[in-house]
Amino acid sequence: MTKAIRIHTHGGPEVMKYEDVPTPEPGPGEALIKHHAVGLNYIDVYFRTGLYKAPAMPLIIGQEGAGVVVSVGAGVTVVKPGDRVAYAGPIGGYASERVLPADRLVILPDAISFETGAAMMLQGMTAQYLLRRTYPVKAGDTIVVHAAAGGVGLILCQWAKHLGVTVIGVVSSDEKAALARANGAAHTVIGHANLVSEVKKITGGAMVPVVYDSVGKDTWNASLDCLAPLGMMVSYGNASGPVAPFDLGVLSAKGSLFLTRPTLATYVAKRADLEHVAGDLFSVVASGAVKIQVNQSFPLAEAAKAHVALEARKTTGSTVLIP
Ligand code: NDP
Repeated sequence: MTKAIRIHTHGGPEVMKYEDVPTPEPGPGEALIKHHAVGLNYIDVYFRTGLYKAPAMPLIIGQEGAGVVVSVGAGVTVVKPGDRVAYAGPIGGYASERVLPADRLVILPDAISFETGAAMMLQGMTAQYLLRRTYPVKAGDTIVVHAAAGGVGLILCQWAKHLGVTVIGVVSSDEKAALARANGAAHTVIGHANLVSEVKKITGGAMVPVVYDSVGKDTWNASLDCLAPLGMMVSYGNASGPVAPFDLGVLSAKGSLFLTRPTLATYVAKRADLEHVAGDLFSVVASGAVKIQVNQSFPLAEAAKAHVALEARKTTGSTVLIP
């Protein structure tokens, strides 16, 4: 047997139960791994509440972890027992041991600890594809990043600065503003009520070519109004709730804007893309250009407390759960 956090029904953090579950056996193409650390992500909240559809119940939530390969099923060549590995994607992460498709695993460089690996795979690979592929930023760009002191946010701020980009970070408090600035945001704005006028001031009226918006419902309109003509609205999350259906004509009226609603799964679906995106992340972490900030750690058994903190906007940077 092994230990896992399962939900049997959707709801608040109280639906998360720490239970004994059978240790799974790896089938063909799969690997069994022993987690040393599990990553906490906002997507775990969406699966818990039911905003995102659960594949089955009971469900072990969680989509990120780092640990050691225990055994592999038939046909697995990308990893072997004893390898240090990390991953982001396949659901089932809040567990001491789990199986997953072996081709979703990458070898964790020796210089990166399990905690850092578990903290950075999902948020860091997301920052990579947002900055390098969804809208490839250029040195000299000025961009808007929402939730700039959060997990994805702190990585975006550092990585964008490293690429020569001026970041306007949006946060909810003075403390978070200081943290975002210490991590590369050139400017910070508290709340979104004055965001458009602040962006106008900072850019001399030019506005920005891209907004990375993970907040969703609350910031949708302000984000669109921060864009320059032909700008790219990247709506990649719903921390405040999903964006309401809207009239496509708004994109034309506001300057022939582009809109995308991306998800990491698409950008790393091919093994070659996964290796490229993870490799790019490992290199900015190894060089020190991006420092992964694990600012909270909870025992896996207390994952519900971690959800309470995340939803109450009390966390900064990344959070790990330790089995
Ligand atoms: P964060 O650490 O960024 O936590 C969420 C933050 O969102 C909060 O700290 C808070 O920052 C802000 N926020 C704004 N409004 C609310 C609200 N009403 N309730 C709660 N938080 C709010 O989480 P992650 O780094 O794990 O994820 C960030 C976002 O990116 C999430 O929306 C997530 O779903 C999305 N994401 C999307 C991916 C994709 O591929 N599409 C992949 C990874 C993450 P503040 O207090 O400063 O406002």
